[in-house]
Amino acid sequence: MGIERVTDTITHAEDGEEQVIEQSLRPVTFDEYIGQERLKNNLKLAIAAVKKRGDGSTLDHILLYGPPGLGKTTMAGVIAHEMGANLRITSGPAIEHGGDLASILTNLQPGDILFIDEIHRLRKAVSEYLYTAMEDNAIDIMIGKGPAARSVRLDIPPFTLIGATTRTGALTGPLRDRFGIIHRLEYYKIPEIEKIIVRTASILNTEIQPAATALLAERSRLTPRIANRLTKRVRDYADVNGDGIIDQYIAEQSLKLMEIDNLGLDPADRNMLELMLDNYGDRPVGLSTIAALTGDEPPTIEEYYEPYLMQLGLLERTPRGRRVTEKAKRHLSSLH
Ligand code: ADP
Repeated sequence: MGIERVTDTITHAEDGEEQVIEQSLRPVTFDEYIGQERLKNNLKLAIAAVKKRGDGSTLDHILLYGPPGLGKTTMAGVIAHEMGANLRITSGPAIEHGGDLASILTNLQPGDILFIDEIHRLRKAVSEYLYTAMEDNAIDIMIGKGPAARSVRLDIPPFTLIGATTRTGALTGPLRDRFGIIHRLEYYKIPEIEKIIVRTASILNTEIQPAATALLAERSRLTPRIANRLTKRVRDYADVNGDGIIDQYIAEQSLKLMEIDNLGLDPADRNMLELMLDNYGDRPVGLSTIAALTGDEPPTIEEYYEPYLMQLGLLERTPRGRRVTEKAKRHLSSLH
């Protein structure tokens, strides 16, 4: 059993240190994985059924979707652990050609779990190869060029594909249809985020007081990755400016330093809302215009900024574009 990254693309924009810490904080079992109860129950049932059959059949292909940082990659690891299977990790943009995919697939061991992050970013030609792999455990590749070209069918060991995407709408119908289990990960509830913060602080060997936990939870955008990141930053602050214990004062001071406000917005979020307001007031603004205003790519706006701002009711989607809400205006002016 093991975890192996089969392509070398780092899928999340994180620095090296953050990656190492993320690894140590990552839950390995269903019990350690906090929240997402409905998903866990569905998966536990599916896993128990496969194990009970005991005929060597594999788990259905699984598609997990939802905003970044909610635990899709982590869940793939938990599933592999519970199945006693190897986890092979890659991502949509890292698989450039059909040949790359063929080599990943033909190198799988029977029962392996293949995790493809950002599966919506797979090239169309590559995702077409996946169809037969998922359905018939085979892949047809073309050998040679021109009139001498011929198609060769390669067998692939039985495997389970876990795809992760921030946008299911970006997946082609035929690909989506080949997943037996499709599940959306929800934003976490505050008490769940508090549990994650307490767990993280204990793994980091840091004492955190309940008032500080509550404050960090409120500002973590209901997202485990951010909860972990804030806990780590606040721990550093406590080490440098205090006695290492995270109390309410230390948490408040370090959040202030990071410019994270009481809704969990950071300077980039506020900048986007302010640019929209300054240039367009409360009129709807198209995605590409927002991207031009902030200097980001449209998918970054759509996948990273927008979901949480919408969840909070600070931004709304209209048929003619995105609109900053009254609530957002009140929030921004309360900060000035
Ligand atoms: P995604 O793949 O959805 O972007 P990840 O699986 O990489 O998100 O999760 C980000 C980090 O958040 C992980 O390193 C893990 O430590 C933490 N995390 C995610 N989900 C949970 C959870 N349910 N319970 C505890 N920690 C979690």
